[in-house]
Amino acid sequence: MRNVTIIGSGCAGWTAAIYTARANLNPLLVTGIQPGGLLTTTTVVENFPGFSKGIDGGALMTEMQEQAARFGTEVKYLTKVVSVDFSKQPFRIDFDSGESIESRSVIIATGARHRHLDVPSEHRLENKGVTYCATCDGALPFFRNKPLAVIGGGDSACEEALYLTRFGSIVYLVHRRETLRASRIMAERVLSNPKIQPVWNSVVDDVLGENEVTGLRLKNTATGELSTLDCTGVFVAIGHVPNTEIFAGQIALHDNGYIQTREGSRTSLPGVFVAGDCADFVYRQAITAAGMGCMAAIDAERFLAAQGAS
Ligand code: NAP
Repeated sequence: MRNVTIIGSGCAGWTAAIYTARANLNPLLVTGIQPGGLLTTTTVVENFPGFSKGIDGGALMTEMQEQAARFGTEVKYLTKVVSVDFSKQPFRIDFDSGESIESRSVIIATGARHRHLDVPSEHRLENKGVTYCATCDGALPFFRNKPLAVIGGGDSACEEALYLTRFGSIVYLVHRRETLRASRIMAERVLSNPKIQPVWNSVVDDVLGENEVTGLRLKNTATGELSTLDCTGVFVAIGHVPNTEIFAGQIALHDNGYIQTREGSRTSLPGVFVAGDCADFVYRQAITAAGMGCMAAIDAERFLAAQGAS
């Protein structure tokens, strides 16, 4: 029987582990199949306080992992939670290995994943020109001095488009409306950049190419007309989807799938706490995820103390 089980190994999960381990709760952290979460897919993180020169996203996660290990966190690496039963105490957690454990409290820190376009050839051409992370892949020789397309109209899409102007011959910003959702400062930077050409009122109907991307088939959202846009790279930046499917029906979720919180990190069910991007669709920063991990750890500790379990 575990006191506390943390599901997820991004900033939120490792921070919850550091705090619960230091509180002598002997936490178990289950990493999932992509240890370190989304931050491992970025390059330099410049806004995490304490690193005046910035720090590589993967290196930051390794630091957090080592810090959690130093205080005795037990880690289940490369293991995925496939289902949970929160209907009674202790809670049951089932792994993809077929094994199950019981836990008095749970901290959910499963994060979010990139939203996909869901068009026929998207996945066939993934890593052959289709990518979800400009900072990870934009500098590849494959994309140098070639026409590139970013899909989306939010801050992420704008940030990716600006970054890609360093590499591409031209950067098309394909957006389904004719006003950007992005913050004003980002929108102004994008719209005044001569290397960025907006393609308004357009959605991707399919990605074109056999073994590598050669272009996009676009559909005009106003007229329904189809057109072709030649490009070598497609950078999809249309938001995120929370990794919360296994909790549906067990704890309260918002309509958009994110986990509902009340009073700090508490979910609708006593003993189940949440931290990071699976609950946060507003701030979504590494530092806020870490802060939420700390809150969840303290809330779990108090819950266990009230139960007489720690
Ligand atoms: P977002 O703000 O949700 O924007 C997603 C964009 O993708 C929207 O323009 C949306 O169009 C479009 N979209 C969604 N689904 C689509 C689909 N199926 N097909 C085509 N287009 C689709 O997501 P985000 O840009 O990742 O930003 C998330 C949060 O992080 C925001 O709060 C943002 O401010 C923040 N952020 C901040 C920074 C920064 O400050 N430097 C950088 C990155 C992110 P519509 O506009 O029509 O809905």
